[in-house]
Amino acid sequence: MYADKEQKEILQSKGCLLTDQYLHDYEDCFVNKWDELIDWEKRAKSEGSFFYDIFRQRNVQSIMDVAAGTGFHSVRFLEQGYRVVSVDGSANMLVQAFENARDKGYILSTVHTDWRRLSFDVQGEYDALICLGNSFTHLFDEHDRRRVLSEFYSKLKPDGVLIVDQRNYDRILDEGYSSKHKYYYCGENVSAEPVQVKDDLVQFEYTFPDASVFHLNMFPLRKAYMQKLLYETGFGSVTTYGDFQETFRGEEPDFYIHVADKG
Ligand code: SAM
Repeated sequence: MYADKEQKEILQSKGCLLTDQYLHDYEDCFVNKWDELIDWEKRAKSEGSFFYDIFRQRNVQSIMDVAAGTGFHSVRFLEQGYRVVSVDGSANMLVQAFENARDKGYILSTVHTDWRRLSFDVQGEYDALICLGNSFTHLFDEHDRRRVLSEFYSKLKPDGVLIVDQRNYDRILDEGYSSKHKYYYCGENVSAEPVQVKDDLVQFEYTFPDASVFHLNMFPLRKAYMQKLLYETGFGSVTTYGDFQETFRGEEPDFYIHVADKG
């Protein structure tokens, strides 16, 4: 997947994690447990009408869910009548998403591809592109982040909108970890804690009630850096929400949601 073999070798020799790491992180058994971690019902409640309001204001009809995972958002938006295509680089995740959708009476339109190849593998342009659930943070080098944002940009219609979220890594890096555990990973009795925090890696450990343990490796994106990347990709405006609210001065949010309009 690395166009530049030399760059890949340099990163590896420095002990850096590569963007392909997500394929190892989302092994079979972890994917089977993902829905236990996120709890669809509680998550839908915590999001409320946040996404629908954004879609309504922009007259969105077609959505590309680029980090489909087990299909939480794809299914939610299909249920509301949007045209959705579900993309993911992990085949395990897409299989689970397809089954989850089928159980609710929907046939998911899926594309198995890596974001770095999006424009090769997905046809057409969309009104909205969503990259949710702290997924963008799986990109470990700046070159890939810029390349992927350009791919996302190119798959949007001229007045399209990208919605991308991330953990509040500023707080984790500057003050240490704490979480209201309310908005994203709503599963009861599943603990999610960072076990490594460095400027270029945060490793989260997930422990389930049956004592199984999994790890996810992520790049700690700072909010201002992410906003800068979005503007430098060409997005005309970027509004950042904290835990689904526009004003988040009182309490530091667990997650940021960037809404980037192309036009
Ligand atoms: N959006 C879902 C949710 O909120 O429940 C899943 C989030 S999960 C943290 C991240 C997803 O992004 C995984 O399904 C993973 O396979 C996918 N992903 C990460 N990096 C990717 C890449 N470079 N290309 C395609 N998919 C990727």
